[in-house]
Amino acid sequence: MAAPRSLLSLALALLLSAGCSQPGAPTPAAATDAAPPASSPEVVVYTARKYQLVEDLFAEYTQTTGTPVRAVTDDAGPLIQRLRTEGANTPADLFITVDAGDLWFAADQGLLAPLDNATLTANIPANLRDPANRWFGLAVRARTIAYSTTAYTPERFASEVKGYADLAGPAWKGKLCLRSSKHVYNRSLVAALIARYGEPRTEEIVRGWIANLATEPFSSDTLLLEAIIAGQCAVGIVNHYYLGRMIADQGAVPVAIRWPDQDGAGAHVNISGAGLTTHAKNRDAAVRLLEWLSTAEVQARFAAANQEYPANPQAQPTDIVRGFGDFLRDPIAVAEVGRLQPTAAKLMDRLGWR
Ligand code: FE
Repeated sequence: MAAPRSLLSLALALLLSAGCSQPGAPTPAAATDAAPPASSPEVVVYTARKYQLVEDLFAEYTQTTGTPVRAVTDDAGPLIQRLRTEGANTPADLFITVDAGDLWFAADQGLLAPLDNATLTANIPANLRDPANRWFGLAVRARTIAYSTTAYTPERFASEVKGYADLAGPAWKGKLCLRSSKHVYNRSLVAALIARYGEPRTEEIVRGWIANLATEPFSSDTLLLEAIIAGQCAVGIVNHYYLGRMIADQGAVPVAIRWPDQDGAGAHVNISGAGLTTHAKNRDAAVRLLEWLSTAEVQARFAAANQEYPANPQAQPTDIVRGFGDFLRDPIAVAEVGRLQPTAAKLMDRLGWR
């Protein structure tokens, strides 16, 4: 997949790496370090981020640095269980997930090691990493409101819905669609609302959402968007990149994003991120890979693979994502969202969100 590259193109990439790159363009990697040894120990990555979203970057890293990268893919739950069972014998050096809640939980279980690293702390904003530096955000996703542009003009929708709480109002009875409460994305969203409003107010909002459901909660954000397109629901709550991926695959679809709470706390954002495991065997090589993933040039492509926002503010998202417009993000530390996950899960259970 990676193009053949010469010393000249590598030098060019190093020169250009400080600026913005064209997302998705196959440019050679700019390593963060001086020339590494021709053969380094293998870095083993346990990843809950889909393999097809990381395989090209890992292959490129191997080609550029000589360090083999082996990925083991599964959901975060089984991977965390595996890390616990393997203990000091784990082959895993890095753990990648798609939600701060899972990283918070892994760190809480003692599975991730603090990493005092100037490159990572310079490249990744403080609210997108663990305060103890046991994990670092690598891509940012917004959990936002999506609505049918067949049913609503942007002007009308904007006048009726300013934020998440508005979807709890009686005007939306039988029109709202949600994903299952079992999924970590919704637990994180509710955790963010608890941090913002406290439990009693969040409970009111969630109770209103459940009363407004058009149908049973969906098992995926993509199914939810398809239900909006089909007219089964007028509005739903999804991660922005599912719409981005749909537009990348199909062109325009009759769904638009309404960024929530833009005159208040902002839209809930979460991360896909990574941490060094406590029992990493190839610690130095794993840290070099993590540093490389945090650089602006690589960040643009890491995010573009899934229509996300790069965590490194020096990198730009794709044209499709830029087309969603600028928005205010909830500045809460995603670690706090992780910490409140168990409280959120209990609240959702209590109210009967399936
Ligand atoms: Fe996802």
